[in-house]
Amino acid sequence: MTIIAVDDQGFKQSLWTATGGDAPDCPPLQQDKQTDIAIVGGGFTGLSTALHLAERGVSVVLLEAYQPGWGASGRNGGQVIAGLKHDLAELERLVGPDMARRMIGFADKTADTAFGIIDRLKLDCDAVRGGWIQSSHGVGVLEEQKKKAEKMAARGRAVSILSKEEMIERVGTDWYVGGLLDAAGGTVQPLKLARGLARAAQSAGAQIHGETPVTNLSKGKQGWVLTAANGMTVTAAKVLLCTNGYSDLTPLQNATTRSVVPFYSYQMATAPLSDNLLKSLPAQGLGVSEARRVLSYYRIDSQGRFIMGARGKLNGSLDQSAFDLARQRMKEMYPRLDSVPMESFWNGRVAVTTDSLPRLMQIAPGLGAAVGWNGRGVAMTTSMGSVLADWLTDVPQQDLPMPIGTPRPIPFHWLKRPAAGIAVQWKSFLDKRERKL
Ligand SMILES: Cc1cc2nc3c(=O)[nH]c(=O)nc-3n(C[C@H](O)[C@H](O)[C@H](O)COP(=O)(O)OP(=O)(O)OC[C@H]3O[C@@H](n4cnc5c(N)ncnc54)[C@H](O)[C@@H]3O)c2cc1C
Repeated sequence: MTIIAVDDQGFKQSLWTATGGDAPDCPPLQQDKQTDIAIVGGGFTGLSTALHLAERGVSVVLLEAYQPGWGASGRNGGQVIAGLKHDLAELERLVGPDMARRMIGFADKTADTAFGIIDRLKLDCDAVRGGWIQSSHGVGVLEEQKKKAEKMAARGRAVSILSKEEMIERVGTDWYVGGLLDAAGGTVQPLKLARGLARAAQSAGAQIHGETPVTNLSKGKQGWVLTAANGMTVTAAKVLLCTNGYSDLTPLQNATTRSVVPFYSYQMATAPLSDNLLKSLPAQGLGVSEARRVLSYYRIDSQGRFIMGARGKLNGSLDQSAFDLARQRMKEMYPRLDSVPMESFWNGRVAVTTDSLPRLMQIAPGLGAAVGWNGRGVAMTTSMGSVLADWLTDVPQQDLPMPIGTPRPIPFHWLKRPAAGIAVQWKSFLDKRERKL
């Protein structure tokens, strides 16, 4: 297994690790095991799937290289955002009208579903349903958002368009021309959510082993055999790979590593702020993400810290210069925070696909993968657990709200880093061109 030190450091330095309480007890795999279903990866995707399988009485073993929530799930912005990035027309073009309708019906409810799971299982994760705003950096962008909001409202989504003045009131900056408010959204402490899902899955009967990197996957007579770094094995009738942006820790399958391009996203957080500063910042429980292609996203945590996220370096370096864009964005939007010291700096890997749609893949009989959440996975992956549990328990694919495909490796995947650098520059150029006030 490749130990990528910078990735472990990103977890250790995270605000969420500092405020996430105790990790659940997930001992390493110490004996060979047999199970119906084995899952690799203990982020929201794997944990929610394990939870839903266990709740249905299916025997499930989840193996995680580090500990539940170590990947993107325990390090993200904690913004609970309903839906996919696409509208119905775009989805129809990509997957056909019938599947498009099912996908949008499911995606529209993902924030409700995720908060529903949190409520039902009483998961302690600082969940506050204060809405989500996608801010507009230009008048043309706002016009597009208005059209999008009309279509969403027609489908029953509780969305509205905010004027520049309303953005100043709610977000505390005059940098935007307006925004789209979705009342379904909100915020969580993501590592606490991952740990809560892990504990709930264990209570329902799932076996979760941390510090258990899977280093080999093969087909044996009794089923699929997962071999951990310490030589212990899990044999299962079915295996689901939920390794997302960290699929190359041990490249078990080209299907997962080559279907996504991992990007690092960086976040930094202040110490808890004074009431005076907080009163002119987004309210606790409100998530804000930009409509810019090279976007920033920000929020306040449960103790009044301001958290700003943005792109950083492509190699995952945690040098201070990797946070330059986050600092620059914070300065242009909130000059009054410029002198406030930052206390935490961390990063994590987002897994991007070529069409911004997730990849649910049947790699071989009994072997599947679910990756590629394109930086919008908190609500989506938490909700997806029941869908993946349906798929693994043989619910017909035509009844699922996401298409199950075959692997589609990205051509010239080895060029990902230089290509990503060029893509970021091009997107920044387009963002600047759109900024007409
Ligand atoms: C900095 C950042 C900010 C983000 N902000 C938001 C946000 O505000 N809102 C939002 O909706 N989404 C956000 N996202 C995206 C969201 O976090 C992800 O979409 C989601 O967490 C993906 O969950 P996952 O379970 O698929 O993957 P991960 O949580 O990445 O889990 C994959 C796991 O697989 C494990 N693994 C890999 N290989 C092996 C192996 N061989 N053996 C055992 N285990 C293995 C890894 O250790 C890892 O724990 C953000 C992501 C990042 C990185």
